Amino acid sequence: MLKPAGIILIAVLLWAGCTTEPYRTANKPVPPNWPATNEVQKLQLPPLPRPVPSVVKTNPPPAVHPTNAIHPAPVITWAPLNRWAADHKIGAPHLLSGLPVATYAIGSTNGVMVLEIGSREAIWNGIEINLGFEPQLIDNQVFLHVLDLQRNLEPLLCDPPLRFRTNRVIVIDPGHGGPNTGARSVLDGRFEKEFTLDWGKRLAPLLETNGWQVILTRTDDVYVANSDRAVFADAHHADLFISLHFNSSGPDERAHGLETYCLTPTGMSSTLVRGYNDFWSENFFNNAFDAENLQLAVRLHAAVLRATAMEDRGVARARFMEVLRGQKCPAILIEGGYLSNPHEAKMIESPEFRQKLAEAIAGALK
Ligand SMILES: [Zn+2]
Repeated sequence: MLKPAGIILIAVLLWAGCTTEPYRTANKPVPPNWPATNEVQKLQLPPLPRPVPSVVKTNPPPAVHPTNAIHPAPVITWAPLNRWAADHKIGAPHLLSGLPVATYAIGSTNGVMVLEIGSREAIWNGIEINLGFEPQLIDNQVFLHVLDLQRNLEPLLCDPPLRFRTNRVIVIDPGHGGPNTGARSVLDGRFEKEFTLDWGKRLAPLLETNGWQVILTRTDDVYVANSDRAVFADAHHADLFISLHFNSSGPDERAHGLETYCLTPTGMSSTLVRGYNDFWSENFFNNAFDAENLQLAVRLHAAVLRATAMEDRGVARARFMEVLRGQKCPAILIEGGYLSNPHEAKMIESPEFRQKLAEAIAGALK
C-alpha cells in the first residue's frame, strides 16, 4: 500500500540528500533559499490543468482553410486509464480501496502498478515510484496525464524488460573524489567519496564476471567534474551509466533508506529540485532514454532493497544532476543509504554491506 502522506512529507522535510554537486558538503546548513519542503516545490509548479474528457475524445477539426496553421490541433494532455489499458491490451484498472482516498491497481504480465487519486506517489511491484502528475478521478473514471502514461506506465507495464548482451560497456561512477568529499559519516567524519570508491571497486569485478566491460570514472581519490563524467562515459561508448552515492540529511539524523534517481522526462516536474530551476520544457541528451532509465532504476532499486532490507524511499526524478543529464545511454544514480543516520552510517562503513550493495547491482544486471 501507499505510505501515509505524513511519512512521505516528513521524509521530504528530512531530505537534504547527498551531494552530486561540488558545492554541497555534509553538515552544511541548508541555505535559506533551499527548497527543502514539499510546499516550496509545489509553489514552483504551474497550475495543474484540469482533465477535459471532451478534448481527449474529440479529434482535431479537419483542415478547411489555409489559415488553419494558426489554429493548431488541441493538445491532448489527459487520458482515461481504462481506454489506455484497452489500447495497450492490458486489463482495466480496478478499485483497490475507496477510503481514505481511492487507490487503483492496473496490471500486466510485467507487474502491478498501484495508483492513488491525487498523489504523485505510485507503487510498482512493491516499490515506490513518482509520477509527474497526480491521477484524477472524473465521473468515476481514472485519468492520467499522457506523459505519465508514456513515460511511466508504458515502460513498466508494456515494454519488454531490459536485456543486455555480453561485452557491453558499463561506466561505474563512484561519486565525488578529491576535494569534493561528499557527505560525512555522522559516526566519525569519514567521507562519502571513500565509500563510493570502494563500492565501485567491489562492483567492477562482479560485473566483469557477468560479461560487462567495466570502466570506472575514477579509481583513486581524485576530483572529476560532474560534467566530465558524462563526457567520459560518451568517450568510452558506454551502454549503461551508474553513479554511486550515499546520502545525508545532516544535522538531522532521522532520514534513512534507499533512493534511486533518473532524469526527469521533458514536460514533467521533478521529484527533487534542490535549488535548481526545474524548467519542464528542458530536453537533455539523456531524455532519449527515459523509458530505459526508469526500467534500469526500478530494477536496481528493487534488487538493492531485496538484498539490504533498507527503507524504500523510492525511484525519483531530478534534472539538476549533471552526471545524468548529458548521458547518451541509460543512466541512473543510486543513493545507498544515509551517512547522517547513525544506524546506516555504521552499515555503510562496513565492507560487508558495501559488498552486499555491489552484489545486488551486479546480480540485477546479469
Ligand atoms: Zn553523493
